[in-house]
Amino acid sequence: MISNRLKSAHPDLEARNTHRPTTLVTLLDLKTAGFRLYGNCYCGHGRELDLDMLIERYGDDYVFINEQRIGRSLKCTRCGHPGGKLTLQPG
Ligand SMILES: [Zn+2]
Repeated sequence: MISNRLKSAHPDLEARNTHRPTTLVTLLDLKTAGFRLYGNCYCGHGRELDLDMLIERYGDDYVFINEQRIGRSLKCTRCGHPGGKLTLQPG
């Protein structure tokens, strides 16, 4: 369970000591792993989000799992609907 992992005492240390190549929890993890973050509207329109901009705004240790701030701040560039869903794609 992702939620259990987030409750562990030292998620950062675990992420760095693990044998798995990536543990994607924070915005910096995404950037380091070369992932892209997309914001998707219910209308089907999606666009790539600027990770550098998000890191600047929310911090590189911002946990994007179950996050709401970024999703709420989105506005669809096609239909103008506020809010969206975040999805990840490997770079
Ligand atoms: Zn839309």
